Amino acid sequence: MKTALITGISGQDGSYLAEHLLGLGYRVYGVVRREPGAMRWLAPIADQIELLYGDLRDTTSLEVAFQKAWPDEVYNLAGQVFVPTSWELPEQTFDINVGGFARLLKIVEGLKPDTRVYQASSSEMFGNVDGRCDETTPFNPTSPYGVSKMAAHRLCEVYRRRGIYVVGGILFNHESPRRGAEMVTRKITKAAAAWQRGDRSKLKLGNVGARRDWGFAGDYVKAMRTMLQQPAPKDYVIGTGESHSVADFVAQVLVELRALNAGRFTFSTIDECVEIDPHLLRSGEILDLRADATRALHELAWKPEVDFPELVRMMVRAEVEALRQ
Ligand code: GDP
Repeated sequence: MKTALITGISGQDGSYLAEHLLGLGYRVYGVVRREPGAMRWLAPIADQIELLYGDLRDTTSLEVAFQKAWPDEVYNLAGQVFVPTSWELPEQTFDINVGGFARLLKIVEGLKPDTRVYQASSSEMFGNVDGRCDETTPFNPTSPYGVSKMAAHRLCEVYRRRGIYVVGGILFNHESPRRGAEMVTRKITKAAAAWQRGDRSKLKLGNVGARRDWGFAGDYVKAMRTMLQQPAPKDYVIGTGESHSVADFVAQVLVELRALNAGRFTFSTIDECVEIDPHLLRSGEILDLRADATRALHELAWKPEVDFPELVRMMVRAEVEALRQ
């Protein structure tokens, strides 16, 4: 039986990954900062995992958690993930996203160097690129968040040269009903659930022309684990290869609401339900991100199962159901 230690286990990716690994027979430990009561996604598997207190900014806490778990695989999914916050708190973003990963790598190298390490790298490292991005596309980040992820990604490379099995999974945006409420897809589907119950207020958004390659988080965590089972460590891009605009996402949400509402009133156009708030426009906005995941397809046999309409449907229905309850 393999043992995995997951930082960020209470978040979207951590909770899906924990479920996936349990299904494969892993023993799963998770590092958490918050009270267990706050972890709603972990409730169904709470009795199958062991939670250890730890903070990526605190070396000792990580060391103690690592010693306790003594893992074969570490998945570093914790982080400060929201781009606007990285402008407000750039130093904290670096301490968590870069310093935290550096602390983990030092612990692995010092205590158990055969541990395999997965780092949550990000498509934000690429910045504005024409066309699809693969593992050879140069990085050109446009926010402190993107720079922090690039720095951590470079740490993967240098520790790999010292013999540690460490991979950076360059995941494009991946969503689900468990996505953080500050991210645009969840913000829209939460509003949609209110609209479905008759709320007529407009949702404030920023740049609705921005395009992202949105996939389903449950598909993406499977790629993380597969990356750690390869003969040699390598970085992989993970995404669907298609991008949609924020406006497309809203339009697809309205399609879902119409299907759910069966004849009753729903908004028919984005102008009826969305207003642009200039404060939500971003400096250094990345206008379009699209993955070329050919390497993952060929070497990991990975491809996404959930397409864009299905992702939107899943998120809208979960939110409507949550509000109904
Ligand atoms: P990101 O790609 O990691 O920054 O994920 P987000 O979900 O935060 O943002 C995706 C895209 O949606 C970005 O281009 C944002 O500028 C755009 N966007 C437009 N309006 C909003 C909004 O109100 N909130 C967020 N989070 N993003 C928005």
